Order: sequence, then structure tokens, then C-alpha cells
Amino acid sequence: MDFAAAASTPSLAGNPGRAPWVPPELRLVCLDIDDTLIDCTAAIRRTLYALTGRGDLWPLWDVITEEHVALVVAGELDYDVMHHRRTECFLAELGIVVEPVQVGAFEARRREILARSWRLFDDVLPCLEWLRAAGLQIAAVTNASGVHQRRKIAELGLSPFFDHVAIAGELGVAKPDPAMFRSVCLALQCAPGQAVHVGDKLDTDAIGARDAGLGAVWLDRDGTGQVGERAPAGVYTLSGLGELPELLVSEYATVGVPAQRATGTPAARVRGGVF
Ligand SMILES: [Mg+2]
Repeated sequence: MDFAAAASTPSLAGNPGRAPWVPPELRLVCLDIDDTLIDCTAAIRRTLYALTGRGDLWPLWDVITEEHVALVVAGELDYDVMHHRRTECFLAELGIVVEPVQVGAFEARRREILARSWRLFDDVLPCLEWLRAAGLQIAAVTNASGVHQRRKIAELGLSPFFDHVAIAGELGVAKPDPAMFRSVCLALQCAPGQAVHVGDKLDTDAIGARDAGLGAVWLDRDGTGQVGERAPAGVYTLSGLGELPELLVSEYATVGVPAQRATGTPAARVRGGVF
């Protein structure tokens, strides 16, 4: 083999059968809600403390929630039944066995306190404002019950940002099922390859989105990826939404520097409101 005769760098001009790489077009950014936009974990911790006077019950609640949500995703329970059974199970784990009506009263009180505890992460409104200014469509893609999630989105002032809201409890399908992600692309008439999904769950959000053909971003706010869970190939990892614009600009062809932010944007209205 004559290495001296070989070109020192590959030349696309000398290989007309191979087109140059072109960055993909981006039209849609999908966002998970809980623990991506809304600090759900902190709200639940505060609520459990208010109900029990104990600050150590979050891990138990989280495990029970994971088990019960899995039953919903599998189609074995609807959200209303799941909420009641989850609370019943939580109380039983604490050694408290009560009548169904008392479980219902505890659950109602829990929801009441929780509804007053929702807060957006600080980086949410600037990010949503940037996405809007960049001319991108925005969708919420969330595994939750429709009634509660729509109320939460509205009360936190997020509704004006979304071109589409996809909620598992309304669709009968949940992340990571590709049908969930593709339903959003279909609703907004965009190919999966023209969309990116961002969420805090590596498996449900990022890997699910990647496997459905979307760009995939794992929002690792807690730094989990630094100590154990690692993102696989095809998944970007961010530690906050403030890093999202730079990622989109560097990886996609049609995302440029956003226009000057206008007054009267949804974020301006939220800031000027009760929050
Ligand atoms: Mg989430």
C-alpha cells in the first residue's frame, strides 16, 4: 500500500457519491413537566412533612409511587384508583390501617397542601422565553393524570407557552412508549427527527425519546450521572435548562440567536402575576 500517494485529509470533493453532513432541522422542543419544569420532589417533601411532621418519608413515598405509576403505565389502574391505593399503601407501610373514607380524607388533604406547594425551577421561564423567541414549537409531554396536570400547568402560568400538551392519563399511552412521543409530532406536523425531548428521567424521557427517533436530552439536575447512572449513546446530558439553548444552537441547523425579547411575552405575564 502506497501511503505516500494517499491524501493527508479526506476530501468530499473527491468523493461525489457522499454528501456533506448537514445538521438536522429543529422545529419542536418537547418538555417533561414534573421535576423538569416544576420542582415536584420539593413540593412532595414539604407536603409529607406538613401531613406527618416527619422529614424522612420521601424515599418511602417515592418507591410506592414508582410501583403504582408502573401499574398505570401498564394499563392495570387508572389514575384516580392509583392515587387512593398509593396513599392506602403508604399509610399501611407506616402501620396505619384505616377505613377507605379516611384514606380518601388523607389523600384530599395531601392534594390540597400539594397544590399550594408547586414551584417552577428558576431556569424554566428564561428557557421557555428563549425557545419561543427562537421560533420553536413547544410541547409538554407528561406521564400524569389529565385533570391534575392541566390544573398545575395553568396555575403556574405555563399554558401560554405550549403549542400542545400531551398527558398520559388522557391519551391512554405513556412515556417511554414511542406512541406517546410520535403523537406529539403528529399533532404538530413535525417529523420525529425535527424534535427534541428534554426530561429528568433517563429511561422514561431520554431513552424513550431517542428510541422514538427524537433528539434526546436527559436533564440531570441532581448530578446523578456524575456518580452512577450514565447516559447511553445518543443522549445528551444537561445539568440545567440554562444549558439547553447552547446545545440546540450547536447541534441544529435552524436554531440561531433569538430575536430581542419582547415585552408582554408569557414569561413577562407570569412574572408580573402572582408568582
Ligand atoms: Mg419528570
